[in-house]
Amino acid sequence: MNTTGSPPKALSGFLPEELFSLNTLDKPFRAKQIFKWIADGSRDFPSMTNLPLPLRNALSANYRVFSTTVAQTLRDPDGTVKLQIQLDDNSAVETVLLTDMKGRKTACVSCQVGCPMGCAFCQTGHIGYSRNLDVSEIVEQFYHLEDAVGKLDNIVFMGMGEPLLNLEAIQRTVEILTHPDGRALSRRRITVSTSGLCEGIYRLADQGPNVRLAVSLTTADPVLRERLMPVTRSNSLSELRKAIAYYIEKTGNRVTLEAAIMQDVNTKVEHARQLADFARDLHVHINLIPWNPVPGLPFSTPSTAEVHRFAHMLEREGLTVTLRMRRGDKIGGACGQLGRKS
Ligand code: SAH
Ligand code: SF4
Repeated sequence: MNTTGSPPKALSGFLPEELFSLNTLDKPFRAKQIFKWIADGSRDFPSMTNLPLPLRNALSANYRVFSTTVAQTLRDPDGTVKLQIQLDDNSAVETVLLTDMKGRKTACVSCQVGCPMGCAFCQTGHIGYSRNLDVSEIVEQFYHLEDAVGKLDNIVFMGMGEPLLNLEAIQRTVEILTHPDGRALSRRRITVSTSGLCEGIYRLADQGPNVRLAVSLTTADPVLRERLMPVTRSNSLSELRKAIAYYIEKTGNRVTLEAAIMQDVNTKVEHARQLADFARDLHVHINLIPWNPVPGLPFSTPSTAEVHRFAHMLEREGLTVTLRMRRGDKIGGACGQLGRKS
């Protein structure tokens, strides 16, 4: 604790120029060195051996490298790893490593403690909302995962929370992780997933960063979507479609429309037609996510046959469809399961 009673600042959430504005540093290249050390895996100041000893001591006395710790690591036999990350205020968030068939590693990170959007089919939506995460709390999820499993290829903001309600922190996190003096991750390897907040989509399109966008459409049936996703009340499907078209036009990127699909809920012929109407003339592809079980919720996972039937209906409508494999469900780490006690 410092004299103000609050814990020392964590430097993981600072860009080099911001580090330099700290009083402790007298030369810009020192800020770059610290930034690089953190990106390369240094988690305390004594290990930053190219800094003079008095500077290392001064930094240790006034700052921390990280503000969060890993409280628990869970490993699924399918290769998925889930970290429970402890925050300063004793709340916790979850971060997941997903490995695909080609061995590419993706960090699925959280941006809020809980989520205020209240989607009917999602565990996180049912645990309620506490607060936004700050930049260090988001960046550190990525670094903690790299400490656990080695270098990661991609990052997706698809953990707990609605990224576009915490856009400023997401923008700064992307700046840190893509910075050439640090981790230098490519923007193409970063995806932000939203439940469909139009204003946030416009802001992301206008302000950047130019990352990949995924929109959790779930269904293009307006009545059903409003029942499943309350966000629809203030962000109608037609407004959402316009915002997606704007994002595509402005960034040149293809957008992913995600659809968590539930048995006999959003898999009928008319749902395929409505989805096709929504997607017509948009540069999008559809990612189907068979619903992952959440105890107590009134949905069921569709059979493989139902999933394939729905996928074929969409393909016959001329859409490009991919199927997300279930990963990490034994440790409560699959899409929509975060926040569950494992
Ligand atoms: N809040 C953001 C990102 C996190 S949710 C969003 O909603 O886009 C990531 C994805 O998981 C979303 O597409 C969401 O619709 C989906 N999802 C939520 N609960 C699910 C569940 N139980 N099974 C499968 N997918 C789920
Ligand atoms: Fe929040 Fe996304 Fe879950 Fe909806 S699906 S409650 S937006 S985390």
